[in-house]
Amino acid sequence: MDAAATSEARRAELVTLFKAVSSCTACPLAETRTQVVFGAGNADAELMFVGEAPGFHEDQQGLPFVGAAGKLLESLLAGIGLSREDVFIGNVLKCRPPGNRDPQADEIEACQEHLFRQIELIQPRVVATLGNFATKLLSGSPVGITRVHGVEQRVRLGASEVLLYPLYHPAAALYTRAMLAVLEQDFARLPQLLGKGPVASESAPPEPVPVRVALDPESQLGLF
Ligand code: URA
Repeated sequence: MDAAATSEARRAELVTLFKAVSSCTACPLAETRTQVVFGAGNADAELMFVGEAPGFHEDQQGLPFVGAAGKLLESLLAGIGLSREDVFIGNVLKCRPPGNRDPQADEIEACQEHLFRQIELIQPRVVATLGNFATKLLSGSPVGITRVHGVEQRVRLGASEVLLYPLYHPAAALYTRAMLAVLEQDFARLPQLLGKGPVASESAPPEPVPVRVALDPESQLGLF
């Protein structure tokens, strides 16, 4: 899809992709998942987050980041004046690895085309990778998150050029206060990277919004 494709055309293609991916059997995770977690959010988002893989709650609900890490992600978003409706949230893997184990190389290999296509269709300005798996995949480098978090880099992903912005995974920050502080600092640079300037420091952050749970299959995509 070329860069000039209309928003409606890209959205329609995203829905087509959602339907195709919903029945994907390209790797063995298809046998153990409850359902595919395609990703959800704004089809025209300027900011896209890419996590690792669905966990228990995501697998049950069919939506990304609906557990404890998702609550933290929402609160970090609220801190920069954004909500889930403003961004698109996806994952490297669309299906839950059993017991939440790490994604395996063959699973990433089988699933990555869906993620690259999502990025191509959404055309975000900034792709924020959450944790090592998304960062290594999209940067194409084995350098880990500890060294590259908070450092933006311009990358070409298929037909799209985006600003890649590696961040610690919120799940890691749930249990380590020092990591949470770093994640908050790195998050605070997002408005600037989006070309929106710094958020006024004296304004109180808005209340976190409740997790949105879509019920019918079409709105599972959570397009706003
Ligand atoms: N962790 C992730 O990486 N993705 C999710 O969707 C939920 C938790």
